[in-house]
Amino acid sequence: MYPFDYQRIDTQQALSAAQQDQRGQTGKQTSYLAGGTTLLDLMKLGTLAPAVVLDINGLAHDYGDISWSGDELKLGALVRMSAAADHQHVRTDFPVIAQSLELAASPQIRNMASLGGNVLQRTRCNYFRQPGWSACNKRQPGSGCAAIEGVNRKHAILGVSDHCIAAYPGDFAQALIALDASVDILGANGTRTIGFDQLHLTPGTEPERETILLPGELITAFHVPTGPWTKRSLYLKIRDRESYEFALVSAAVAMHLEDNAIKDVRIALGGVATKPWRAREAERQLIGNRPGLPAFEAASKIAFAGAITRPGNRYKAELGQQTLTRALLQLTEMEI
Ligand SMILES: Cc1cc2nc3c(=O)[nH]c(=O)nc-3n(C[C@H](O)[C@H](O)[C@H](O)COP(=O)(O)OP(=O)(O)OC[C@H]3O[C@@H](n4cnc5c(N)ncnc54)[C@H](O)[C@@H]3O)c2cc1C
Ligand code: SF4
Repeated sequence: MYPFDYQRIDTQQALSAAQQDQRGQTGKQTSYLAGGTTLLDLMKLGTLAPAVVLDINGLAHDYGDISWSGDELKLGALVRMSAAADHQHVRTDFPVIAQSLELAASPQIRNMASLGGNVLQRTRCNYFRQPGWSACNKRQPGSGCAAIEGVNRKHAILGVSDHCIAAYPGDFAQALIALDASVDILGANGTRTIGFDQLHLTPGTEPERETILLPGELITAFHVPTGPWTKRSLYLKIRDRESYEFALVSAAVAMHLEDNAIKDVRIALGGVATKPWRAREAERQLIGNRPGLPAFEAASKIAFAGAITRPGNRYKAELGQQTLTRALLQLTEMEI
């Protein structure tokens, strides 16, 4: 480990840190620290080396609560993953959120890790995490991408570019994007709210830019609207082992069924894309149809129509379709 400055800050200090960062006044690379389960890992590996670490856990007073109004679920960014997964209304009214959280990581990590940190976790691409590899455009812009011709079994097949094929690794973000969540961002000019689907970026020619956040901006909360599909929702995660493992493929799905017809459906895919991935074309294909295997298989095919595979990750296109079909079938069998 290398020397760095550590400060525990409050909301006002976070705001002035954001203002200074945006004006480029600090001249230092600054990182926020929540649970630390991503940040400290990457600092120890030497992948990240912020000069200043601002501990935001003191902001839990403002951004550490869960509230439920009937119309909307609000999750503070400093809520721990385990607290959200265990929350009564999250479990009964938004099962896809509870399942995406409890199928992630380990109980110890879920007790430490925050929701804000979770959506901003970094890719598990080993070439990114190990600075000994020289070619990684995300870590070292312009250096190339070792994964494209290298070991890429766990890499993405949707949203990829010639510059990066790293998969977005988290689970919770898929639930948020499927349910049309929005996110509050505190920055130099106060708080702005954007659709969660606008937060993450595909790599394009700048894989080092993963989100639209400006320097110093802080995620403070997530809002999830209640809809006729939120109770009939689930998260299906396929991985190499049944616990403590990232997704090879996952599907966050939600459906509004009426008179045995699909009135509305929400689909997000994980493990297969460079960012949390909403499968809107597949949704359009399903709306108005009768639920069942033929419709679900056709929609799953559409969801992966744009896949760009390599020899190492070709299996994900087939596995992804099967996972989505299975998730949709399970949805229709849910008793609500
Ligand atoms: C062994 C292991 C297995 C795991 N398995 C899974 C898994 O299966 N599924 C899964 O989804 N995750 C998994 N994770 C990832 C884990 O869930 C994340 O590390 C965790 O959620 C990050 O939250 P944190 O509070 O610890 O973030 P931190 O490490 O504190 O922060 C992460 C990043 O977000 C920034 N940040 C944090 N909070 C904010 C905020 N409010 N606003 C702006 N920036 C912020 C930090 O500066 C940092 O860049 C695993 C992690 C480990 C170590
Ligand atoms: S896939 Fe992305 S993160 Fe991995 S080596 Fe290539 S550029 Fe780096």
